[in-house]
Amino acid sequence: MQGDHPTPIGGRLRVAVVGAGISGLTAANELAAAGIEVTIFERGRGPGGRAGRRQVPGFEFDHGAQYFTVRSDAFARQTAAWIAAGVAAEWSPRFATAGDGVLRPKASHTTRYVGVPGMSGLAGSLAGSLDLRYRTQVISATRQSTTDITNIHSAQSARNRPAEWMLRFSSENQDSSTADTKLARNHEQSDTFDALLLACTPQQGLPLLTTTHGEIGLAERLVSTEPSFAEQARAVKFDPVWAVLLGFTSPPELPADAIFIDHPALSWAARNDSKPGRAGDTAWVLHATGAWSTGREEAAPDSIASALIPAFEEAVGIHVPEPVYVAAHRWRYARPRNPSEETALWDAKMKLGMCGDWCAGARIEGAFTSGLAAAQRILDSEGGLW
Ligand SMILES: Cc1cc2nc3c(=O)[nH]c(=O)nc-3n(C[C@H](O)[C@H](O)[C@H](O)COP(=O)(O)OP(=O)(O)OC[C@H]3O[C@@H](n4cnc5c(N)ncnc54)[C@H](O)[C@@H]3O)c2cc1C
Repeated sequence: MQGDHPTPIGGRLRVAVVGAGISGLTAANELAAAGIEVTIFERGRGPGGRAGRRQVPGFEFDHGAQYFTVRSDAFARQTAAWIAAGVAAEWSPRFATAGDGVLRPKASHTTRYVGVPGMSGLAGSLAGSLDLRYRTQVISATRQSTTDITNIHSAQSARNRPAEWMLRFSSENQDSSTADTKLARNHEQSDTFDALLLACTPQQGLPLLTTTHGEIGLAERLVSTEPSFAEQARAVKFDPVWAVLLGFTSPPELPADAIFIDHPALSWAARNDSKPGRAGDTAWVLHATGAWSTGREEAAPDSIASALIPAFEEAVGIHVPEPVYVAAHRWRYARPRNPSEETALWDAKMKLGMCGDWCAGARIEGAFTSGLAAAQRILDSEGGLW
């Protein structure tokens, strides 16, 4: 794909990607390899999104995605590259099932991989030398009207073409000389791009879209002009998931590292330090079910941990010793309930795309596949991107 995309007179095409999860980074790499200038905006402190890692003194947790499996040839090639780069490895935990208070060992013949040294290692490797703006939240993305484009055109005569999208974003800059978070400053800025790719959930992406007047959501306009696009994205609903992170110096005595749980409150528990390349003491991650998490999105994290630790004891039938570290993390948009049938969405007229695991399957491979498809759709745009 590299080098076969025409470079317009006056400069390289500029594409903004919102989200440095697996889908956004995959798309960004493909676009960059084709000679497009890509800028990725990520509101988090690092890459990975739902395939991230939390580090605290003494413990490490993969608090979102736990492992990944491989189905397609393209993802097998990506996985082989990750393994060769030392950022992924096979994970063969002692599996069990539980729920009714009895732990039953479970055989598994599926090959599972994890990121190294944490799940975010995958995204870290994809991030490479891309232009990534961390701690930068996109506030709005405004499609320029024809008049605006004419005005902007003169300002951009050096690039000899109009920009289509104006992004407003807020960057949190930390004073590096002090750890005092109160000194963090939010700087609001804007920039223009030729095309926009929303590599996040529709719930996060669609509300950013505005018209030039900033009053009527572009999503509304899209519904009237391009029903197959926005309606499809808006139809996808997500379940939340609460994760509880437990760090121990005297760990629970469990003859398993990964437990599939069938319990009203819990679906999964894993011993994070059983994964390859992890540092730190014994760390367990518990995942609540979507049904239990729904309606508790705004609950205090303490109350979630207080409810899920006894649920874990009940499900696996053991006493959990007092953890020295306890935290709860809410994934508001954890899993798409009804993923779209399209692998990615791209509107060549609007120069607007969307991708993510909600398009191609609710897993890391789905996010990767969707990112690839989005880049391909952009590069294959009828008559070229411009
Ligand atoms: C609890 C849980 C367990 C899971 N377990 C597994 C598993 O075991 N195996 C598996 O394969 N998959 C698992 N998944 C699913 C997997 O994590 C996702 O499919 C994948 O990571 C999604 O990637 P993505 O790029 O589509 O989206 P995301 O990872 O959500 O990336 C979107 C990014 O956009 C950023 N963003 C959003 N709005 C803005 C804005 N306005 N400005 C700037 N940035 C913004 C977000 O911060 C985020 O980083 C799990 C997910 C969860 C939540």
